[in-house]
This record gives sequence, C-alpha cells and structure tokens, in this order.
Amino acid sequence: MSPTLAVIGAGAKAVAVAAKAAVLREMGVDTPEVVVLERAGVAANWDSVGGWTDGQHRLGTNPEKDIGFPYRSALVRRRNAELDERMTRYSWQSYLIATGQFAEWVDRGRPAPTHRRWGQYLRWAADRVSMNLVAGEVQRIAVDDDRWALHTHETVLAADGVMITGPGQAERSILPGHPRVLSIAQFWHRAAEHERIAAERVAVIGGGETAASMLNELFRHRVSTITVISPTVTLFTRGESFFENTLFSDPTGWTGLTLPERRDAMARTDRGVFSARVQDALLADDRIRHLRGRVAHAVARDGRIRLTLNSDRGGEPLETVHGFDLVIDGSGADALWFLPLFGQDARDLLELGLGGPLSGQALEESIGYDLAVSGVAPKLFLPGLSGLNQGPGFPNLSCLGLLSDRVLGADLGAGHQPVTRRKDERQPIR
Ligand SMILES: Cc1cc2nc3c(=O)[nH]c(=O)nc-3n(C[C@H](O)[C@H](O)[C@H](O)COP(=O)(O)OP(=O)(O)OC[C@H]3O[C@@H](n4cnc5c(N)ncnc54)[C@H](O)[C@@H]3O)c2cc1C
Repeated sequence: MSPTLAVIGAGAKAVAVAAKAAVLREMGVDTPEVVVLERAGVAANWDSVGGWTDGQHRLGTNPEKDIGFPYRSALVRRRNAELDERMTRYSWQSYLIATGQFAEWVDRGRPAPTHRRWGQYLRWAADRVSMNLVAGEVQRIAVDDDRWALHTHETVLAADGVMITGPGQAERSILPGHPRVLSIAQFWHRAAEHERIAAERVAVIGGGETAASMLNELFRHRVSTITVISPTVTLFTRGESFFENTLFSDPTGWTGLTLPERRDAMARTDRGVFSARVQDALLADDRIRHLRGRVAHAVARDGRIRLTLNSDRGGEPLETVHGFDLVIDGSGADALWFLPLFGQDARDLLELGLGGPLSGQALEESIGYDLAVSGVAPKLFLPGLSGLNQGPGFPNLSCLGLLSDRVLGADLGAGHQPVTRRKDERQPIR
C-alpha cells in the first residue's frame, strides 16, 4: 500500500510533484499516491481568478525552469537518467511542441511567457499525468491517529504527509472595504476588467515581485506619482549573474554557509528585490519614488488615506505620516498563511516537534533535507519556508525538479488505504 501525500494548492509545485510521481510509477518504482486539493482550479494563481495577476504580465524566471528543472534527479539508483528523460516529456518545450507553438517561440527570441500561458502549460502537464485533483478549499488541518486530516467544506481527506504551497490569499488589505485602498486581488480584478485607475498620488505597499507586476500595470493608468513603500534602505535590483542564479538552481553548497551568510544571500537575491528587467523598464520612469518604512496603520481623512510609517533615523525610532489618493496593499504574500488552518491538536504536534512555540522562525529553522519540519510525524512539507535551510530556489520556480525529488524521497511511513469521506456521511468513500 502506498502512502498518501496530499498537496494543498494545484500550482507549480503540485504539478511538479504529481508529474514526477506519475513517471516513477510508470517506471515501476514505489511512490506515494499524490492527491491535490485546490480551491479554484489548476494554476489558478497564474490567472485573474487567483487574484495575484491579470494573467497578462510576464514570468520573471525563464520558462525552461519548468516542472522538471534542473533535470538532475537523484531518486532511483542507476535509473536517474531515465527518470530525467521521461520528465522531459512534460517540459516547457514539450508543451510548446505539443501545442504547435515551438517554432514561433524560438523565432520570436524565446520570450518570457505571460502568466496565463504559464498556467496553460501547468494545466497541460497536470492533464497529461492525470493529476489526482480534489476540488475544495482546505479550511482546517487536524491530526487523526497518525495521519493528517484535511477538511474542506464537503470532504475530509486523510493523508500520511501534507505539502503546503502558494503565497496565501491576495485579498488582504490594510483598510478593508475602503474604495481608496485596494488589495492585490482588487487591483488585478480592476485591471482584468480594463477599468482605468485615475489618481494623483498612489502608494504601493511592498517591494517584491508582486509589487513589481503591479507597477508594470499601474504605469498604463492615469497616475501622477507612485510611491513604493518598503522597509529596505532602497529598492534593490536582484542579482542575476550566473553565480547568483546557481544558488537557486543548485543548492549543493547552501548548507555549508552560516545562517547570517544565507540570510544575506537571500536578501540580495530574493526578498523584496526587483528583477533587473523591472528596474530597467520601470524605475527609470520619474513618477516612481521609494519611501522607507513599515506601514503601521491607515486611516481615511479629508478624502485621502493617511499612512503611518515606522522607520528609524540613525538608530532612533521614527514615525511619519503620509497622505495618498489611492493605496494598493501589495504586502499580501505570506509564507505563514496556512497557520490559522491548524487545529489545536495539529499545533500541539508541531510544538512538540519544534520543542517550543510555533513561530515562523522556528518552522524555517527546522526544515530538513526533505523540505519537511524535522521531528514531526506525519510529515509536513513546507517548501515555501525551505529557502533558509535548504536553498533559496525551493520556495519559487527555480528548481521544481529538485523539490519533487526531495519530497517524494521522504519516508512517509507504511501507508494506508487512501480515505476521502464526505462530511455528511458516516462511512468513508474508498
Ligand atoms: C505575480 C507573481 C509573479 C511571480 N513570478 C514568478 C517568477 O517569474 N518566477 C518564480 O520563480 N516565482 C514567481 N512568483 C512566485 C510564485 O508564487 C512561486 O514561484 C510559485 O507560484 C509557487 O508555486 P506554488 O505551487 O507554491 O503556488 P501557486 O502556483 O501560487 O499555487 C497555489 C495554489 O493554491 C491554491 N490554494 C490557496 N489556498 C488554498 C486552500 N486553502 N485550499 C486549497 N487550495 C488553495 C490556489 O488557488 C493556487 O492554485 C511569482 C508570484 C507572483 C504573485
């Protein structure tokens, strides 16, 4: 009996793991049964339905960093080359060939695909490997004997391991319901509806790739100034040289670095930085400014939104207030978005494994080679928090092939009959 690995969210990571599991099964290798729970649809976050994009903006990383990249499996003795060869059937290029787009893509100079096209690729791969999908939003994660119990509105899925993916919910807003304050989802909804934004002074809270995509869109609207608010000293450009990229594709030397060295490398390459392409295209525009600080709160007064920012000057805390006509809260991505889903039993289990209170830092520092929280059984895989301990490519699209190796190579125990039951039924459906 194969153990069941449940994945929350049918995005890039789920498709990568499901595809590799399907290939391993084809090769006659024992592998967990992968079941994916999804609230909106496969690759939903790559189109307007997910709230993170309108689908028209372009992927930052190369599409060749696809679900099998870097095609250097180390999972099956003496058959890794065969595994990689089989995985190339689900590569970005195979997708283009299968859909008659390959020659045009090459002739156009291998452009970055739009988010929507990337989502279409992920759906194509998921279809081809017959990814096992359960529709529903996971609302609670509990423990049932020695397994996880994942509750959606209608079903409960029992699993021997769980992998949590995605950046969280795009609906977060510092002033919910106010028409002059938009969440990421509200912003992209307007963009997808081709609604024109007209405002004098606009603030965008957050300095990462999410904010970068929004800036890219905002420049087409009628705005006079755009102030990007982030806690960093300035808006940094991501290092994209061979050496920096290698850290993402190949984490071999990562664990040999000290924690401060790793944090430094991540700050320069990953967190709150704009890609060089964005810096070139957008930051040359003189409408854009940077304001350093953390937004503490927002109030609506005299037709404006006043933001209170905390920062420091010369080591002394400083509080400043700034007024804007429109605020876009781009700080939504939250690596810990899933914590409220844990029931008390699951929290107790995690705290026991962590040997202390449940916190982001404790989880981050506990992630083992298999991208799961060390000392916790059943396994809880948190690739989104694996950057610090295992390599900065695991939270994003930089090494999905390695990610699937690590997760599928983990020991999930003996395995049980997969069980999904409807909440209104006493007996499980097998
Ligand atoms: C605008 C934007 C652009 C980006 N561009 C890049 C890039 O170019 N390169 C790169 O490496 N990274 C990029 N990223 C980072 C990106 O989020 C990750 O690299 C990648 O999407 C992570 O894949 P994933 O499988 O973890 O999550 P996703 O692909 O985001 O999938 C998560 C899925 O989980 C579902 N879901 C959420 N909550 C629940 C729940 N409770 N129950 C069930 N399902 C749920 C969602 O509907 C979604 O389908 C970008 C992020 C954003 C927001």
